[in-house]
Amino acid sequence: MSDVHDLRGRPVIIGGGIAGLMTALRLAPEPVVLLSGGNLGTEASSTLAQGGLAASIGADDSPDLHLADTLAAGDGLCDRRTARRIVEAAPKAIEDLARLGVAFDRSPDGTLLLGLEAAHSRRRIVHAAGDASGREIISALIDAVRSTASVSVVEGIAARRLIVEDGAVTGVLASGGSDAFAFSTRRVVLATGGIGGLFCDSTNPLGSWGQGLALAARAGAQLADLEFVQFHPTALDGPRRPMPLVSEAVRGEGAVLIDERGLRFLADTPGGELAPRDVVSRAVWRRLAAGHRVFLDARQSPGRKFGERFPAIAAICRQAGLDPAVEPIPVRPAAHYHMGGVAVDQEGRSSVEGLWACGEVAHTGLHGANRLASNSLTEAVVSAAWVADSVAATPQGKGMRTFSMPLPPRPDASGIRPIVSAALGITRNGEALREAVATLLAIETSGESASDPALVALMMAVAALGREESRGSHYRSDFVERKPHAVTSRLTLGDAFEAAATFADVGEPLARRARKWP
Ligand SMILES: Cc1cc2nc3c(=O)[nH]c(=O)nc-3n(C[C@H](O)[C@H](O)[C@H](O)COP(=O)(O)OP(=O)(O)OC[C@H]3O[C@@H](n4cnc5c(N)ncnc54)[C@H](O)[C@@H]3O)c2cc1C
Repeated sequence: MSDVHDLRGRPVIIGGGIAGLMTALRLAPEPVVLLSGGNLGTEASSTLAQGGLAASIGADDSPDLHLADTLAAGDGLCDRRTARRIVEAAPKAIEDLARLGVAFDRSPDGTLLLGLEAAHSRRRIVHAAGDASGREIISALIDAVRSTASVSVVEGIAARRLIVEDGAVTGVLASGGSDAFAFSTRRVVLATGGIGGLFCDSTNPLGSWGQGLALAARAGAQLADLEFVQFHPTALDGPRRPMPLVSEAVRGEGAVLIDERGLRFLADTPGGELAPRDVVSRAVWRRLAAGHRVFLDARQSPGRKFGERFPAIAAICRQAGLDPAVEPIPVRPAAHYHMGGVAVDQEGRSSVEGLWACGEVAHTGLHGANRLASNSLTEAVVSAAWVADSVAATPQGKGMRTFSMPLPPRPDASGIRPIVSAALGITRNGEALREAVATLLAIETSGESASDPALVALMMAVAALGREESRGSHYRSDFVERKPHAVTSRLTLGDAFEAAATFADVGEPLARRARKWP
């Protein structure tokens, strides 16, 4: 393959969710190329968001209170400076979105309506179209991007490898159908979303299996806190994938969790149904593991008003043959959000020159060991602005001129999901993690279609093995205590291979191959 598209210095943004769209809009009028694996807005978690964005806008609220709730949920692992910066910028982020055309829900006098979600001490969730916030936001941002001449949108083309020369990014190898493309650029922004698609039970689009993490790791970037995966306690229990979510906002409006006998099993837990997500997910998981079924009971509250306040969730329930106003909704936990990601600095720069990250793929330090609900859309909007400003301030440089790299096989995560679900679920233990590491290392080194998803899962499993404590969303049944000091975990792919060969009984030939990387 030798066809190199010279972008004449334009940056490439990979991903068409909220983070990628906001980065492109903020960079205008600087010309940019926006690569999206599917059509804009499809295959993006952003479109599926229900609750909304957290911002301290209410008269009884302040950035300090928002910060305190964020730090409490993060269980000692948040970067306080970054968290403060983001919560302070949150109200302005809402104004920016409104200016771009997002029609947030308001009272008749124009004041923003504020919802309540788990572990928030105040009503501070700004929403749109009731419970279809993501759809409304993304549709407004797509309109804005399509009418911005400086953004060249390339749909149906997925980035497959970053080209790195002398430690700096010089291009992107991409494919669409059976065609391959090489884009020459020295500035690349990853905005590729999360990793839920590595699990059998997930609320994320199936393609969200950490494509950006694989791109960054293979380029040599450092990744952080990969072991922290947030499970949403109340996905609708049924065959649909991604699993439809029954938003926390429903519990915020008074719905309670019961088992098949009607027992409200969270009654004695501090915070009850609105305790942090890790606490509620583990409680639901234990109930299911003990052979019970679990339901979200909204019959009393919001009761008859369910359809009016939560039209999209009511429609999802109806499709499953349920009326949530009169019947309890069957639920189970599902992989939902990745707190870990590409380690970035205060400008969103990764450890590789010319590579930035924002949105769910990035690790800014905001979420720590457990994300506070509705902080991620806020983070994506705020950090997209830092990234855009940093990209704009970085010289264009010259990208690659010639190029030879084989296109890797089309990635397929289906074989990885059962391995990840068994070893990296709500409760973890060393033995299962070591087995997973050995299996994933063998799959990764095969170079076949599961190789990239296996690489991401391998790095997560190594990080989970290395964290010998239980903290936030990471629960080890063999290390149930929390260590006195919280330490962020950091890994490059080279570190992960080395650790994998040591941790797991992988046999000498595989260990030698892994140690040879890169
Ligand atoms: C059901 C659900 C409900 C949620 N509700 C809320 C909520 O109410 N509030 C909140 O704050 N957060 C919520 N979240 C989390 C939040 O939606 C996500 O964290 C956020 O939308 C991530 O945005 P993003 O732009 O980083 O990624 P995404 O929106 O996932 O977009 C990633 C984009 O990158 C593209 N892509 C991926 N790989 C490649 C590649 N190799 N090449 C080209 N393109 C690629 C994808 O196709 C997609 O367009 C929810 C998540 C889910 C799944």
